[in-house]
Amino acid sequence: MMFFAPQFRRFFALLCLALAMAVGVSADTIYLKSGRKVTASHVVQENGQVSYETAAGRTSFSASIVDHVVRDDSSDGIPSDRAANVTLAPPSAPVTTPSAAVRGGSIDTSLLARLESEASANPTPTAVARVVAAESAAAQFEISVGDYDRAMDHYNTGLRFDSASVDLLLAAAYLHLRKSEYTAAADLLERARRDHSDSAEVAKLSGWAYYGLNRVGDAVTQWKHAMEIKPDEDTRRALEKAERDAREESEYREGETVHFRLKYNGTAAPELARDVLKTLESEYDEISTALNYVPPEPIGVILYTNQAFMDITQAPNWSGALNDGRIRVPVEGLSSMNAELARVLKHELTHSFVGQKTGGRCPVWLQEGLAQFMEGKRSRTNAATLIRAQEQHMELSLSSYETSWLNLPKDDALKAYAWSLAVVETIVTVNGMDDMGRILDHLAAGSSAEDALHAVLRENYSDVLQSTAQFLRSAYR
Ligand SMILES: [Zn+2]
Repeated sequence: MMFFAPQFRRFFALLCLALAMAVGVSADTIYLKSGRKVTASHVVQENGQVSYETAAGRTSFSASIVDHVVRDDSSDGIPSDRAANVTLAPPSAPVTTPSAAVRGGSIDTSLLARLESEASANPTPTAVARVVAAESAAAQFEISVGDYDRAMDHYNTGLRFDSASVDLLLAAAYLHLRKSEYTAAADLLERARRDHSDSAEVAKLSGWAYYGLNRVGDAVTQWKHAMEIKPDEDTRRALEKAERDAREESEYREGETVHFRLKYNGTAAPELARDVLKTLESEYDEISTALNYVPPEPIGVILYTNQAFMDITQAPNWSGALNDGRIRVPVEGLSSMNAELARVLKHELTHSFVGQKTGGRCPVWLQEGLAQFMEGKRSRTNAATLIRAQEQHMELSLSSYETSWLNLPKDDALKAYAWSLAVVETIVTVNGMDDMGRILDHLAAGSSAEDALHAVLRENYSDVLQSTAQFLRSAYR
């Protein structure tokens, strides 16, 4: 039975696209006088401040607490595949009041405690505003050093004192969105809309939360509203994408299980939809155990006809399935589960886990390597070619595989997939899946990919490639 369009069927066995990833892969390092080290991108030093990009937007230190900055200009940290994602800029102007709560590269916890007890004893507007400013500053500091859980604690403390603060609600919601915690984000944004129904920022982030919850119609409503108030390019792109989805899916049927929300074309067989959900549920447990992670929300899955898949996703024609936060699979002509589709689903589901666990910070080579490994692929057939390439010192650097592969010619894409699988296979076999989980944890905390590898394996990129070649020789030659 013909399952994929012939022109890309033969590549399908190997290729897919994982789009929800690769944010912040550059590797500038800011060394603070306190001894802490911050991995950052787009570091700018001016006017006595050192500023840089974080998951929650631009943040800055006073230059007086910075010892020195080491720059790595080899990558710019901007993924070229942003267009396919819902990646909106952080809310502008969160609480910017300077606060003495962060000084010398650390948080003054005794000051925070004092402000909190003053505001508890006598909650005047001034006392409350001081707590909000201090907790916001502390949260931004924690974000800047990659500790999002502590950052969220600070936002929550601030919200206990001022539950209607739109700046706090937006900042906390944004952090939840970056962690794929869409329900929590939607709750905060609903609160923000009560007093700020005319805020473009609130509408923008609300659209993102609903899109993440697979409530595409609500996402369209919010993004349209945001565009009416204050149009911008990010929102326009997100709205266009959501409207394409909404048009295509209006005639779709739905199915759901504990962990999945499935939509499929009305002409597709309901038995296939049931099979897909059953297969995904069984794969879910296996991947969850391997990666030691449970996604916070149900995962959206869409089954398409082949033409609709190409139209909606606008994917290059060598790609067979796609994951841009939702799992999108073309299944034309298929009426029941087969081994190939089960493998595709597992591959795409792995992308969802890895993307969410790392907050979208996993480099493409690691995403694709893990997805191939989890679907059951191994390097046997490619081993000889890879070993020869490594022995002949053919130009290869994992750093060139960190960002989007969308523009790679087919042959280069094949090479990239093969190396990615080989590296992941080596790490999992030699070091174990637990180490792989730790690498993902480092990425989630904001490390660059090479730093994350080094922190866990004590190897840089070129060491890792050598270990990989060595593993391939011993395993397959
Ligand atoms: Zn993939």
